[in-house]
Formats: sequence, structure tokens, C-alpha cells
Amino acid sequence: MVFCPEVVILSFSRVLKMPVLIILWCAGAWVVLAETGTDHQRHQARTAAKAVLSAEGISPTLPPNEVGQILVAMYHRIGKKERTWTRTQENFKSDLVELYKEGYRPVSLLDYVENRVSIPAGTTPVVLTFDDGRIDNFRIIEENGAPTVDPTSAVGILEQFHAEHPDFPLEATFFLHGKVPFGQSKWISYKLNYLVAKGMDVGNHTTGHDNLSLSQYSRPERIQRVIGEQAQYLEKMLTEHPTYRVAALALCHGQRPRHRALWRFLSAGLTNGYAYANAAVLNVGSGPAPAPASTAFNPHSVPRVRASEIGTGRLGLRAWLRYFDRYPNRRYISDGDVKTLTVPLHLKEMIDKTKLNKAQVVYSNSEP
Ligand SMILES: [Zn+2]
Repeated sequence: MVFCPEVVILSFSRVLKMPVLIILWCAGAWVVLAETGTDHQRHQARTAAKAVLSAEGISPTLPPNEVGQILVAMYHRIGKKERTWTRTQENFKSDLVELYKEGYRPVSLLDYVENRVSIPAGTTPVVLTFDDGRIDNFRIIEENGAPTVDPTSAVGILEQFHAEHPDFPLEATFFLHGKVPFGQSKWISYKLNYLVAKGMDVGNHTTGHDNLSLSQYSRPERIQRVIGEQAQYLEKMLTEHPTYRVAALALCHGQRPRHRALWRFLSAGLTNGYAYANAAVLNVGSGPAPAPASTAFNPHSVPRVRASEIGTGRLGLRAWLRYFDRYPNRRYISDGDVKTLTVPLHLKEMIDKTKLNKAQVVYSNSEP
């Protein structure tokens, strides 16, 4: 189920005889739910998109658009049977194949929110996230006393795919709650150190998978405790990376404190003398996220898309990939240079010049 506390759906009539939008107000942001248009228009857009992609999905001819939208994919369990919160191992692998072929390249969550996206020209960033730290995300198998990564767990699948496709970076963030993330008490510290050593990230999912909209979290100290203590614990277990800071929070159940005045404690706070700071706060559902240099971007309310086939209400990862097949000009396309921000001239108003991170703006004259 996509949780969406404040839902307003607007639709515009087909009688306008032009592409129309169905958009929805969800968790403080507008999300495009569906778009119509004639079959001919959709076919033309799809054909144009396919025609310019090479075998590796890189398209130097697809014009850069660095205020286009980005998919932040949300996984939970990786298992044998597809369920509402479980992706099968085979479907997860085929997600990676499809993302790769369609020109998506993983970037770290923090590189995305801090506008340091560095991928080849013609490709699109994608952020991979996993919530809840189940054992099927990262399982250790002992062989002759030595730990090896279970190749059927999410980390094993990601590593194997990266080994076969070195230009598909090993970037993912695992949001963990409680004292035994990934379910094997013997390997807690080993796993966290392993992820960070490989360039992946550890994120915060509170101490007790806490639903922050409940009345018991109406006091600031309570919110700061469940976030701050979890960050502190994860950092303590990262014995080989003493300077690593846990800097992202995924909201459990997608829920925020009821009172907006308390939301600031999601991004920063203090508990028992320990200060935490979250550069990114992630929602649950339900559409693509704005580019980091876009006026619509809010790092403390980042939407994610469900990477699942069940219960997504046609708002899952595959549905959004089809959406970008139809409307490639809505998708973030990199210019391949972090020092420049290339934007079609007609999208000039979408740029938030306070978020450029020293990049120089270059306008292109590509058609809308
Ligand atoms: Zn969760």
C-alpha cells in the first residue's frame, strides 16, 4: 500500500485534445500519477527514446536535462516469492538489468541530495534504498570458518551485477533499525564495516521502527532519542570507519510527527550529548524525486518509488520506467560534467541557483 496522508487528485479532461495530467498531492509534494495523450503521441515519444539508446543504455544524443526527475527506488525484503514488501531475487536481478539497459546508473543518496551526481553523459542517476535490514538483504555464510556473502541476498546480487557490469556502480543505502540489523548477531559489526568499505551506505530507520506520527512522539526529546540513539549505535559498530557519519533517515511507515514544528528534529537533533544530522529524509511513496538543483527539491522530504509488483497502485518502479520511456524529456539526463549544470532553456525557471554546488549553468536549446 502506498501511504499518502494528504491526497488530492486533480485531473484535466481529455476533451482538451492534448496530453493531460492526473496529479496528486502526496506527502507535501505534487506527484504525476498518470499522463494520457493520443496513442500516436505516445508511440512517437517511445520510438524516439528507443532509437537513441545504445546497447549499454548510454545516449550521448539524448539532450542533457539536469533538472529532470530521478527515481529513488525503495526495496524491503529480497525473497523467493513476490509479496507486497518482498521482491524476488529474480525480479531484483531483472530490475538491475532493465535499469542498466535503459541507461540508469546508481549514485549514492548523499551525492544525489548534495548535488554531486557524477555519471557519464547521456545516463540517468538512480538511487537504490533498502529498508528494515532483513537477513535476506545481507546474509553471511561461513565456509571453512571464513565469512562469505550469500549470493542470493541483496548485497550478493548487487556485487555480482557490479562485477559483471563495472560501469554500474556499487551504490546503495541500507536503512537499519534496532540492535541486530540484518539478523545475525555474530556479524553486525562485520556487515556494517563491509558495506562502508565497499562504498555503500548505512542509513537510520530509528531504534524501534518507530511510527513518529503516534502521540508518544509528540515530545522533541522522544523523537531525538529514537533517531539519535540509532545513529550513535550504528556508528559505534562501524569500528573500521570511525569518521563515518550516519546522515540519512528513512521514515518508518513514511510517517512524520503530527506537528510540523517537530519535523526539524528529523534532520538534526541532540540526545545524551550526541548530535545527529540527516542530510536526507526519505518518504514512502510514490513518484519520482526532483533533481537536486530544482526549485521543487527538498532534501528533507524525498519521495521514493516502490520496487515491487504488488500493491503499488501502478506507481511501482516498472511503471515509472515505462513513464520515462514515454516521456524521456522528463528524466534527468547527465551532461557528464559535475562542473556544469546543463538545462534546456525552456526549463530555466526550474533552477534553484542556491543549490548549484558551484556548478556553472549551461543552457541548451533542445525542444520541449
Ligand atoms: Zn521500515
